[in-house]
Amino acid sequence: MALRFAQPAHLVDLNRVPELVGIRELADGGLSIGAMTRTADVAADALVSGYAPVLAEAAGMIGHAAIRNRGTIGGSVAHADPAAELPAVLVALDATLRIRGRAGQRDVRADEFFQGYFTTVLGESDILTDIVVPPSPVSTGSAFVEEARRVSDFAMAGAAAVVTLEAGRCTHARLVLMAVSDRPYRSQDTEAALLGSALTDDDIERAAGIAAAELTPNEDIHASADYRRALAAVVAGRALQLARDRATA
Ligand SMILES: Cc1cc2nc3c(=O)[nH]c(=O)nc-3n(C[C@H](O)[C@H](O)[C@H](O)COP(=O)(O)OP(=O)(O)OC[C@H]3O[C@@H](n4cnc5c(N)ncnc54)[C@H](O)[C@@H]3O)c2cc1C
Repeated sequence: MALRFAQPAHLVDLNRVPELVGIRELADGGLSIGAMTRTADVAADALVSGYAPVLAEAAGMIGHAAIRNRGTIGGSVAHADPAAELPAVLVALDATLRIRGRAGQRDVRADEFFQGYFTTVLGESDILTDIVVPPSPVSTGSAFVEEARRVSDFAMAGAAAVVTLEAGRCTHARLVLMAVSDRPYRSQDTEAALLGSALTDDDIERAAGIAAAELTPNEDIHASADYRRALAAVVAGRALQLARDRATA
């Protein structure tokens, strides 16, 4: 509303719905996070740090303390700002978004949820209730890296990376970029290039270049399209290297 995108006749305050708040471990080792859980609580939560550390890492980079204390994970997801950290991370984690509406409950994969600038599959009578993060295999590492003009500004480009290494070879890879497209940008060609590789620095540099070459970013007062594309390759490479190092640590 502050952006004047919407001028609703009625407002429903979800702050007083306790069932929408909290983080719990699921029987399969995954996590369920209530949509109204504050960003600061996601960043500081021991379960999140243990099971999905990249989510805690990215949550801690959002805005400044007041924004993290007040903003919610569900609000960030439903708002669908292409420059937001959490949507990109949730796509990289293969998360599922649980939605409740007049027709009942449905689950939507994060990579199908975001439809474009500030646009999602949520209908007018839908609310997002939970974010479900599946368990990661052992030897999985993840990382989130972004570059902004100043700490706490929206980033000019960011990257979420998740990789699994088995016997020295990559068996699972996700690379999702933010602030360079109309939604979180998952580069499946990059992921395909990484699979089976040893994730050497050269492998990663090549793969990050593939992702950046696919982009047609917008330019704005903060960065030209060329600069943003170059920056995307840098943050993608750094996130993949960090994820690899964490997978082998
Ligand atoms: C100064 C400033 C700096 C910021 N910096 C960053 C940043 O660096 N990175 C970043 O990612 N974000 C940033 N944000 C955004 C912030 O983190 C929140 O994501 C955003 O303001 C949404 O806040 P909220 O959770 O209170 O949701 P609201 O403002 O209450 O809601 C946002 C939208 O989502 C809808 N919505 C909310 N919850 C639900 C639900 N459960 N189901 C269905 N629809 C729902 C609302 O109807 C509304 O359309 C910044 C915001 C400000 C004001």
